[in-house]
Amino acid sequence: MVAIASVVENTCGFNLENIVLFGKCRCSELRWLSFSHKKKMLSLNGSQLYTYSVCNVGEHEQDNWLRTTFIQRRLSASRVFVELQFIVRDCNSFDGSSLTCKETFNLFSSESDADIGTSFRKGQFKKVATIAPDEITSRNELRINTETRVVESLSRKGFYLAFQDIGACMALLSVRVYYKTCPATIKSLAAFPETVAGGGVNQALREVAGVCVENAVSEESPRIYCTMDGEWVVPVGQCQCMPGYEAVNDTCRDCQPGFFKAFVSNDACELCPVNTKLLSSGALFCPCAEDFYRAPDDPTTGPCSGLPSAPRELVATTTQLAAGKLQLSWSPPEDTGGRSDISYSVECRRCEGTACQPCGEKVRLEPASSGLVDTRVAVSELEPHLNYTFTVEAHSGVSLFASQGTPRSNRPPSTSTLTTALHYTDPPKVTSMRLDERSLTSLSLSWAVAPRRPVPQPTRYKLTYRKKDDNLDVTTYTVLILEKSSVQISDLSPGTAYLFRVQALSPEGSPGGSSIEDEFETLTEGKEDVPPPPPPCLSCICIVLAIMSIYSYSSPEQLKPLKTYVDPHTYEDPNMAILKFASEIHPSHVTKQKVIGAGEFGEVYRGILKAPGRKEGAVAIKTLKPGYSEKQRQDFLSEASIMGQFSHQNIIRLEGVVTKFKHAMIVTEYMENGALDKYLKDRDGEMPSFQLVGMMHGIAAGMKYLSDMSYVHRDLAARNILVNNNLECKVSDFGLSRVLEDDPEGTYTTSGGKIPIRWTAPEAIAYRKFTSASDVWSFGIVMWEVMAFGERPYWDMSNCEVMKAINEAFRLPAPMDCPSAVYQLMLQCWLQDRSKRPRFPDIVSLLDKLLRSPESLKAIADFDPRVSIRLPSTSGSDGLPFRSVSEWLESIKMSQYSENFTCAGVVTMDQVLQMKNVDIKNIGVRLPGHLKRIAYSILGLKDQTSTLIQSPIFVNI
Ligand code: AMP
Repeated sequence: MVAIASVVENTCGFNLENIVLFGKCRCSELRWLSFSHKKKMLSLNGSQLYTYSVCNVGEHEQDNWLRTTFIQRRLSASRVFVELQFIVRDCNSFDGSSLTCKETFNLFSSESDADIGTSFRKGQFKKVATIAPDEITSRNELRINTETRVVESLSRKGFYLAFQDIGACMALLSVRVYYKTCPATIKSLAAFPETVAGGGVNQALREVAGVCVENAVSEESPRIYCTMDGEWVVPVGQCQCMPGYEAVNDTCRDCQPGFFKAFVSNDACELCPVNTKLLSSGALFCPCAEDFYRAPDDPTTGPCSGLPSAPRELVATTTQLAAGKLQLSWSPPEDTGGRSDISYSVECRRCEGTACQPCGEKVRLEPASSGLVDTRVAVSELEPHLNYTFTVEAHSGVSLFASQGTPRSNRPPSTSTLTTALHYTDPPKVTSMRLDERSLTSLSLSWAVAPRRPVPQPTRYKLTYRKKDDNLDVTTYTVLILEKSSVQISDLSPGTAYLFRVQALSPEGSPGGSSIEDEFETLTEGKEDVPPPPPPCLSCICIVLAIMSIYSYSSPEQLKPLKTYVDPHTYEDPNMAILKFASEIHPSHVTKQKVIGAGEFGEVYRGILKAPGRKEGAVAIKTLKPGYSEKQRQDFLSEASIMGQFSHQNIIRLEGVVTKFKHAMIVTEYMENGALDKYLKDRDGEMPSFQLVGMMHGIAAGMKYLSDMSYVHRDLAARNILVNNNLECKVSDFGLSRVLEDDPEGTYTTSGGKIPIRWTAPEAIAYRKFTSASDVWSFGIVMWEVMAFGERPYWDMSNCEVMKAINEAFRLPAPMDCPSAVYQLMLQCWLQDRSKRPRFPDIVSLLDKLLRSPESLKAIADFDPRVSIRLPSTSGSDGLPFRSVSEWLESIKMSQYSENFTCAGVVTMDQVLQMKNVDIKNIGVRLPGHLKRIAYSILGLKDQTSTLIQSPIFVNI
């Protein structure tokens, strides 16, 4: 910047702070020392100017001097500018004088420490420049020239300027003397004073020290340079606002209320993070709000977090009952307190009666009992028939504050507790077998089982035997299922050794630990029987005998197949079937509380069953609406006749029926979480695969039980599975007329009858071939519903389109995030050839295997977002591009995030297409499932350009 010393016009006193414009001064004020120059008035454009003039052009050797008064110098101004305005007459305009006439004059200067008044010595002046006009003045035209010269290296207190005329005809109109400064300034929050510009060759830049403005500091003292031209350059060592202050217009201002700044920096104050107290102005940090904390490693500038709430949906899944193992799994807490460092600890207490104590070393928790990052733990070495209470606690970096401060009554507990026991429906181990009697062709055997608390349970046994010396390649085994712990086997070969092995079976038919192989031999003709050799340990005998005495010997006639289901229709009087399979309840023991659903025959209520000799508990009550016919009543109660025959953890349990009163009722166990399809829809994307597969495993176990009993369900679908508080899934809906009447999905087919098309195997649709294999097909669809969180199979395709697609070998595509192994199993269930489909026992054991090695769920099946979210990924439902972000979100069932998008300023689909995963997260979509759904959808939208999805949309197998 060029600064000119302050302008004071019309002042003719001469010091460096003035501009000398003597042309405008009154004549009396001009006190320059003049030898030949005359003060003259010049009229220019109507105004009168004073001049110093000289015009001795006809005379030789002119040496006319004009000297200014003493010009005081500001000490630091060593370089001044002299701007002259003058006119010079053209020598040619003087007749005959051109020989001596000059058209230039000289500028001189002389330094001095004091005003020397009128004393003048030429020798003291140094020449500064010869001044020549650019334009000379002719006779009739006045030309004013302006020239500026620099007088450098001034060092004394002042100086004089002098003008030497050597024979020109000229007039000096004005002399302006000035110097340049760099003006006072604030740069990078440092204040620098007004500084006279550097002067002279070696002093081109003048270094100036600055001072930080108030509330600013700097590590290095601030400096800057002032150039000869009056410009500031190269600031060094900038100042920064102190904590609690931010730079605003070259000052450091207090952070506004609700903002803070923790460090010395030039950053703006930041908004106080979430869960902090808003202080008044000038905050260095924002302290945590009540009940929120910062972990020791958290930055003081970050948000505060609350304690996590309790883990949710803690469930125990029995993995290997016999081995005393179970798996605890849970969902992350609903409220993580805003933290991602959630870990869990599991505490085990074992209880006998009301006395509980820590499980200690006795029970193993793997991988550990604390510091768990995964939401599951494997528990082993549990003893049967003891109650174990598992408390799972969620921890985070701020959990150490859990006990600090005043306890808050509304603080959510961070623990979730589950009490469970391993009740052995699992069979005991057969410990010893003995030969009781033998003949030429028969052997009578008996065996004992390991004693179990609280009482040995009646069980069934599987006996396997073969001839000892059978050629091993073609060994023939005989297998018998026995209901007692002894047997007589006839039709054996005389004098032959046989090998026997016996296993106890659980009520569900799964085998327990087997006995060692025992060898017994039939009698040889002509040889007398000898008593069997005594067992090696006498004390064992006593125990074995004691237990054996409970049982009587079995005879071969007692060999029985597993229990099968009896169709109530086979009873001439259906009421007999009810009597046989269901227990009668007195209506006064049943209290209806609330309608929870609508069945074909009447309302379904939640209620309480309080009957003598029974534990009071919540039940579901199905009612028969008034005005029914006898046929409808029988159809209604047939469900109870069927359900009453089943007893399995994964089949809805019948508590009893009311038949002897006007209002017939079916009372079943109450399933708190209702129908599976709705349960999953409400938790879309929120449950880990592991838990979903656990649910499928339960359904498969129930279906295995039904298929073992030769019961074909015909309407297996997520809507007919109920879920309880422990997330156990149970198969329900067993009415005889059910598929015909009850199911809204039921559709009349050409083969007659009503069939839920999208759940039903092709052979069942085509020619009503309903078998366990067709139930397996439906199970595949249920698996798909589970993995797709209750999505409707085949979306909005019509039944007709579905059947056509299936016949053309198309199958549903993998849902998002579906483990590959699970999808492969679905595809197997949907094999056209029903004999090739897996059976329920295969399905149970495969799912069991997957659950035991959760890594097996890590490989994810290929997923095409365009088909699998049922996104018209290219367009809205009418085939046009989505008109709005909310229309798009609605189409992918993510409407709940509409506001997040709007608040983040994402209001057009073009903006949506620009979003990256991190953007989606930043606008507040936190659940991994939802994140993926939205991200995949965007991917699908980007992919759109060319192809609208062609039907069929399935995987071709
Ligand atoms: P349903 O006639 O068996 O299909 O039952 C109709 C609806 O009532 C079901 O979709 C459930 O929402 C509800 N419901 C039926 N049984 C139960 C139960 N045992 N526990 C809880 N809810 C039930």
